[in-house]
Amino acid sequence: MLRRVLFAGCLAIGLLQATTAVRAAEQPIRLYVLDGGVLESDPGRYRLKPEEVQTTQLSIASFLVVHPKGTLMWDTGAISDETWTPGRRSVAKHLVLSNNADRYVTLTKSLSGQLKEIGYQPTDITYLALSHYHWDHVANANAFAKSTWLVRKSERDVMFPQPAAEPPQPSNFAALQKATTTLIATDDYDVFGDGTVVIKASTGHTPGHSVLYVKLAKTGGVVLGGDLYHYPEERTLNRLPSTDFNEAQTGRSREVLDVFLKQTGSQLWIQHDLVAHRKLKKAPAYYD
Ligand SMILES: [Zn+2]
Repeated sequence: MLRRVLFAGCLAIGLLQATTAVRAAEQPIRLYVLDGGVLESDPGRYRLKPEEVQTTQLSIASFLVVHPKGTLMWDTGAISDETWTPGRRSVAKHLVLSNNADRYVTLTKSLSGQLKEIGYQPTDITYLALSHYHWDHVANANAFAKSTWLVRKSERDVMFPQPAAEPPQPSNFAALQKATTTLIATDDYDVFGDGTVVIKASTGHTPGHSVLYVKLAKTGGVVLGGDLYHYPEERTLNRLPSTDFNEAQTGRSREVLDVFLKQTGSQLWIQHDLVAHRKLKKAPAYYD
């Protein structure tokens, strides 16, 4: 009798384990939107007049992709968590960039605080990928130095030039120099090997600028556009930024992405589009 009960118990545990494993494998991919605040900006840098844009302010966004085989952090915000303390009210930060330009960002939640709310610490994250190396995307990159960094050589070379450039490297991503790194050598890089999360070359804004395609079960395809566009009006009025590394290449990358969006029926999320960003569900809510 005891033996039969034990056998039944083992069978039940075995079944439970098998079901849990199947569930983990079948669990739909989740896309979390993390809010990095609001950036004061000048549409003139993107060949737009203030009266041509719905708002001159830009959103700062980061994203966490949770896949059955691991997690991917996409961009890391404009303000390092180490430089401020979240409270009840939003906090205004003034930054002086290495070229002495002033930037103003207002934010409410820290990146690590938002990750914590959904059960993660930066050190838990499997992969880090940055759309590009500019200051407003890399502020918390050092926190992800234990992740495997997925980067194009052309982008990494600008971040860590040899010999070192003056002024010294921005300290917010310095730790990535020693991180476990996968150098992406193809235009498309399939992060988890099943075509659902793909880093796509979209160069021009910077030498190795990329966008991220995420294929979600209910939402459908979403492309996180990095800085291929900043204001949605760059797209509707067909304007190119005046400060891109290679403006003509940005134009070509936009054309290539338009074809992909059409072919796959995917949405483009312009990461800096404040009006669109405000409408997105924020973590701990998610898209699946
Ligand atoms: Zn940006």
